Amino acid sequence: MVYIIFFLCLFFSFLQSASPINLTERIKELKYPVYYINQQPFISLRTLLKVIGAENSWGRIEDRIFFLYQNKRIAMRIGNKSVIVGEKYVDIEYPPIEKEGEVLLHLPSFEKILSEFEENVEEDEEKSLSREDYVILIDPGHGGIDSGAVGNFGLKEKDVNLDISLRLQHYLKKKLKKYPYIKIYLTRDKDVYLSLEDRVEKAKKLNADIFFCIHTNSSKYNRRYATGFETFYPREKEEVKVFYSYENSNRLKENSQKDTVVLQIIKEFDTTTTIDESKILAEIVQEKLSERLITPDRGAKPGNFYVLKYTPMVSILTEIGFICNPNIEMNLRDVEVRQAIAETLGNAIIEYLERKKVIPSYE
Ligand SMILES: [Zn+2]
Repeated sequence: MVYIIFFLCLFFSFLQSASPINLTERIKELKYPVYYINQQPFISLRTLLKVIGAENSWGRIEDRIFFLYQNKRIAMRIGNKSVIVGEKYVDIEYPPIEKEGEVLLHLPSFEKILSEFEENVEEDEEKSLSREDYVILIDPGHGGIDSGAVGNFGLKEKDVNLDISLRLQHYLKKKLKKYPYIKIYLTRDKDVYLSLEDRVEKAKKLNADIFFCIHTNSSKYNRRYATGFETFYPREKEEVKVFYSYENSNRLKENSQKDTVVLQIIKEFDTTTTIDESKILAEIVQEKLSERLITPDRGAKPGNFYVLKYTPMVSILTEIGFICNPNIEMNLRDVEVRQAIAETLGNAIIEYLERKKVIPSYE
């Protein structure tokens, strides 16, 4: 009998990897219960794990649940509509709920996740194979017919942004020359017009890891006295990516050999997203600028900028000062001030790279 079950399992697991799974059909075939809540079909987590053969590769900590399917982690939270599939967030229609000790999952939502699985696996593998470089893309705001903000004495934002960006690129190339896998590009290196869509397109094409926008601020109503520097990170992203941080906990490193699959999944659930990472980078930029500039620190804040929302990587937009303020305008004409700002931004990026272990840290 044991052997029969074993062979059946083999047979099913063979079927499962041969073609995308049709969850509803399989549940009907196997006569597992479907529960209707507000006219929506739900299945229990136990049923799902049985059907996909993941009974031995799942785990739960409080309201977090994870399991492995075709070598990918699927992680979810009770009451939360975001499910992490591999390295992507997927929004589902109804969140997992808990009723009478049973975790219930919205059947159509999970059917959709599993049916798209095969394609996603291939796509992601291809990406990870072709990726070796770490790409930093600096984006000088405005350009060409779009001057951006203009100071009272005629200094144009587009020129300040470009000059600081070129200096930043030069500084980073010099500082990071030991690490040839780090590439530093600009969306524009001369005075040309680029639409916001062009900029996003470039970031996607280069498969950039960091998209770093440089702007100069302006205030409509307080042109004379507006002052300070601020950095925005995306409030939301069209596509959110997840990073698994293996290094975050030393405790995890010590026992890694003894771990079961389930323990591994739990550990690797220590994640951040491209939005979290953008926020970290924005905070480092503010911290570094505040050490160097005497103007006020207006903080790192979420912003709804097109270039932050639609770029799929870590992205920030820094406003280095108010060009409309005549004192600041005068300062921004000074090449030494520009160089100092560029170096400060460069040091912020270097600190972020050290934290992410993209380069070794010398602390
Ligand atoms: Zn601007």
